[in-house]
Amino acid sequence: MLEGKTALVTGSTSGIGLGMALALARQGAHVMLNGFGDVEGAKAEVAALGGRVSYHGADMSKPAEIEAMVRACEAEFGTLDILVNNAGIQHVAPVEDFPVERWDAIIAINLSSAFHTTRCALPGMKARNWGRVLNIASVHGLVASAQKSAYVAAKHGIVGFTKSVALENATTGVTINAICPGWVLTPLVQKQVDARAAQGDISNEEAKRQLLAEKQPSLQFTTPDQLAELAVFLCSPAADNIRGVAWNVDGGWVAQ
Ligand code: NAD
Repeated sequence: MLEGKTALVTGSTSGIGLGMALALARQGAHVMLNGFGDVEGAKAEVAALGGRVSYHGADMSKPAEIEAMVRACEAEFGTLDILVNNAGIQHVAPVEDFPVERWDAIIAINLSSAFHTTRCALPGMKARNWGRVLNIASVHGLVASAQKSAYVAAKHGIVGFTKSVALENATTGVTINAICPGWVLTPLVQKQVDARAAQGDISNEEAKRQLLAEKQPSLQFTTPDQLAELAVFLCSPAADNIRGVAWNVDGGWVAQ
């Protein structure tokens, strides 16, 4: 379905971003990866699906590097058609103890980076009159949890950004939407499971059970593959008129 299209997925060396990159590649898209850690492993997984794959190491807290990454993607593949703004970090602390540099990093990586990628990628998408911007927000873009003030602020921000840019482009072939996952068992969440296990002197399994029981009525983690299939749908012609939504995939979290 996506043959001839190019996707740039930020933060795609692990977790949800890697799942998105794999699903888009399976649909025939060329993919530019980004992020830290096991770059070669991620590249090999995507390349095994047969399409072209590339990597840019832009730090998503640095606007000049982000702009260079978008330009590199357009130069290498000729187009940037699907932009998945996924890179994100977390820090958990009460607001009065929240380290200032963690606040700044979360706002930069989880929110401002999407502004920079989008403003750089949109002119090309509009010129071709086709594009998809998928912002990986969170249920924390819709509701809050204590001790996550920076994350909740950034994720509410990206949901607002999604709506505004969707309206600006409503009569074009470019759609902008957000996906709002609940708990997904990725390295980002495993850190929170580990902290809970250590704090309560409980097993990993018990910490996971408690984490889910607190917020996610299905008592199941969503998988990166399930989110990636939603992303593929949002790239399909059936989704041409879906604009500015914040679509939660959360086992019932925000229905409560
Ligand atoms: P993850 O830690 O597995 O992946 C994060 C990715 O972002 C990695 O590839 C990492 O290298 C990259 N990254 C981090 N800082 C970066 C930087 N400065 N520059 C470039 N890349 C950077 O986490 P994940 O759970 O897959 O999270 C992906 C997105 O999904 C995040 O935006 C997160 O907020 C969101 N999300 C996750 C969950 C969940 O339960 N895991 C729920 C809701 C939303």
